[in-house]
Amino acid sequence: MKSREVQLAARPAGEPKTSDFRVVEVDVPDPGPGELLVRNEWMSVDPYMRGRMNDVQSYVPPFKLEQPLEGGAVGEVVASGSEQITPGQRVLHNLGWREYALVNAEHVQPIDTALAPASAYLSVLGMPGLTAYVGLLEIAGLKDGDAVFVSAAAGAVGSIVGQIAKLKGSWVLGSAGSEEKVTYLLRDLGFDAAFNYRDGPVHALLAEAAPDGIDVYFDNVGGEHFEAALSALRPFGRVAMCGAISLYNATEAPPGPRNLPMAIGKRLTLRGFIVSDHFQRMGEFVQEVGGWLREGRLHYRETVVEGIQQAPEALIGLLRGENLGKMLVHLG
Ligand code: NDP
Repeated sequence: MKSREVQLAARPAGEPKTSDFRVVEVDVPDPGPGELLVRNEWMSVDPYMRGRMNDVQSYVPPFKLEQPLEGGAVGEVVASGSEQITPGQRVLHNLGWREYALVNAEHVQPIDTALAPASAYLSVLGMPGLTAYVGLLEIAGLKDGDAVFVSAAAGAVGSIVGQIAKLKGSWVLGSAGSEEKVTYLLRDLGFDAAFNYRDGPVHALLAEAAPDGIDVYFDNVGGEHFEAALSALRPFGRVAMCGAISLYNATEAPPGPRNLPMAIGKRLTLRGFIVSDHFQRMGEFVQEVGGWLREGRLHYRETVVEGIQQAPEALIGLLRGENLGKMLVHLG
């Protein structure tokens, strides 16, 4: 059996280019004992994948040159060497960036497509949704009456953060990179306020949008946003440090926030987290967020790119902000 896969051809300097990737046709062997052959239907494209293209050690190892990239995917089992999982079942696993994946049956999670479409397990009911849930409720310790600010607010994580905060009774402000996204936050997701960070210095836009300050900052962006939020936070404010996408293509480390000492006088809590440390909360999360979805109280969007050939463009586009909601590649 033949399958196409996306390999890392070169490590990017700055913004990735399509020539940093290579789409290659390979042979896929039959599954051995305990293995499954999965026809991938959807693959996830995530900001952390940019970090894995660099040759630096982090909480996940770098992608290897001339080897396929990896990442979340859902698909249908087409051949099985496992007694637990039969052909026809749909599973979530981590060998995306290829049309067919040979996976260890212990490394897959069956999904229920009667509950939600398969793609939702890569977005609202999957890793990005759990990131929003844990980051807001546990890491930032959301409390009654908090004023919440979230950046990259129209993206996969940010759009869920803002909606959960609204469902919990908070005042919610979001920032995003286009007028279309700002309108989406205000009109479709019920945010109380939103601004386009490209309209001026973030600290001025934030001060104008939240003149009384904020209690929680859910940071997806880092850099200028983080510095502006430190100034806007009220005493005993909390920051969930989730991501720093404004820095992922940087070729030099930028200087730290100039106003970091404000954290002392304001008694701020700045807390980083990685969602994989919290996978044990998946059941509780799916129950609560799945309930809101069923009741029509929580909404999500997906930006879908068609075909494995276009997967590199999808990652490049994600880093440029071309997605509304979760960026996905549909593999058929
Ligand atoms: P998104 O769906 O939010 O997509 C990324 C978005 O980032 C783009 O759409 C773009 O939107 C925005 N962006 C890109 N460049 C900049 C910039 N220079 N300044 C401000 N915004 C920018 O991605 P995710 O929801 O998957 O991820 C959001 C963040 O959460 C990322 O930082 C990611 O690394 C992090 N993350 C962390 C996890 C953890 O365990 N800690 C787990 C999952 C995600 P716009 O048009 O608004 O600029």
